[in-house]
Amino acid sequence: MRARLNSMKIGLVTYTPEKVAGFDMHVYYAKWADGQVFPAARDMQNDVTCFCDAKAIREDPCLVAVSKYGPALRRNRRANLAFDYVCPTNEEYRGRVLDYVEGLAKECVEGVTLNLYHFPDAEFCICPRCVKLWQQSGLSWTEWRARTVTGFVEEAKKRVRGVFAVEMFPDPVLARERFGIDFERLAGLVDYFHVPLSARDYLTNYWVDLLARDFLKVLRKPVVVELSGEMLNDEKTDALLKTVAYLSRHELMAALLLVHDAENARQICRYAIHNGEFRGWLRKYEFAEMNRIVDNWATVY
Ligand SMILES: [Zn+2]
Repeated sequence: MRARLNSMKIGLVTYTPEKVAGFDMHVYYAKWADGQVFPAARDMQNDVTCFCDAKAIREDPCLVAVSKYGPALRRNRRANLAFDYVCPTNEEYRGRVLDYVEGLAKECVEGVTLNLYHFPDAEFCICPRCVKLWQQSGLSWTEWRARTVTGFVEEAKKRVRGVFAVEMFPDPVLARERFGIDFERLAGLVDYFHVPLSARDYLTNYWVDLLARDFLKVLRKPVVVELSGEMLNDEKTDALLKTVAYLSRHELMAALLLVHDAENARQICRYAIHNGEFRGWLRKYEFAEMNRIVDNWATVY
């Protein structure tokens, strides 16, 4: 385990461009996997979904990445995919994403985070263009895909002013083989890595601690972990907060909570502040970092 050097930030990932008191990091979804695109959120980290774009694929089905198991679409159940993926070597689509990233840099954004900038899985993409590019490269399939993804991230970085980060499919072992995500090379480009560990709840949470440790061991830049905070009942909120408390024992740069909106975030704060059992639990088991975060929330709410 890396020893803690600095305090852990607590932040939000939101669909609305508003900052919330009590949180010191704000990530805003500016471009979504369904294809919706929004204006830049000033003074926030703007998160850009790159190659997952259901709307673009509906408008031009030729954009989709393909494998011997068929296209990279959610409705193709031979592939187990959560999104519809565009082929990453489509120059025209790639250019559109890079233009959008360049546009964000002209606004007063804090920085840009890239999301879903990689291949859908190991079998993708075998469209004629990708096969030709791979054969011309003389590289192995895995190396060509990793260079393709890294090359895109390099191009995006050139267009970003401010903080630059990437998300990833949270697989610390097979990321390069499956998605073309080369953590070694990306570490040279990013300011930090954003690891999303999404779930419907954290009533079972050993896997969050496990993956946080693995990513801290593997990644050579600061690490931020995102948990889903959209749940509203007490039991799930309690489990979420205790999972953040365990995360706060590792040397993470930040823990982020994905919320629907600002009120969702404030509800989590109020639950933590006014729940005597939870605050007693933090003190009894000496979660100093989490105690500090909740004490700070209590000064705001
Ligand atoms: Zn392709």
